[in-house]
Amino acid sequence: MNVEVILNLPIIDRMKTSLHRAADREIGGVLMARQIVPGCFEIIDFSVDELTGEPAHFVRDPALHNSFLDEFFERTGRDYENCNYIGEWHSHPRLPVIPSITDLGSMENLVNGERNIPFAVLLVVRSDIPPEFVATATFHHRGAPPAPARISFKNRRHS
Ligand SMILES: [Zn+2]
Repeated sequence: MNVEVILNLPIIDRMKTSLHRAADREIGGVLMARQIVPGCFEIIDFSVDELTGEPAHFVRDPALHNSFLDEFFERTGRDYENCNYIGEWHSHPRLPVIPSITDLGSMENLVNGERNIPFAVLLVVRSDIPPEFVATATFHHRGAPPAPARISFKNRRHS
């Protein structure tokens, strides 16, 4: 499956603000997306956990994100088919944006685990200086090996 992740400018700007605030600390959270067509996901919101930013896996219990998720689903009209959780993101300050073995293992555990999450994207980002924004994405699918996902940067303010 060829998977595409769309990152719009407002999302990138918000992420960069969090990254600069965190400086050398690794931060991350969950990604929420609108499915444009099957396999094409536009990121429309994300959470930021700036407190547990140690190099670790960011596989989270959705219960811990209840207020964030509730607010998102409320705002998107509980249209779970089209607007839903799509995966995880975290930063690699001063490191290549290549998922570590631990990162990939966490994602594989997520999609092959007992939670009803059959697929998920991992986005790894870095912005060490304000103009910089680099990112890579991998797609994880139950029963299949991880595959690179294409990222499309869009200069779009409204979606
Ligand atoms: Zn990582």
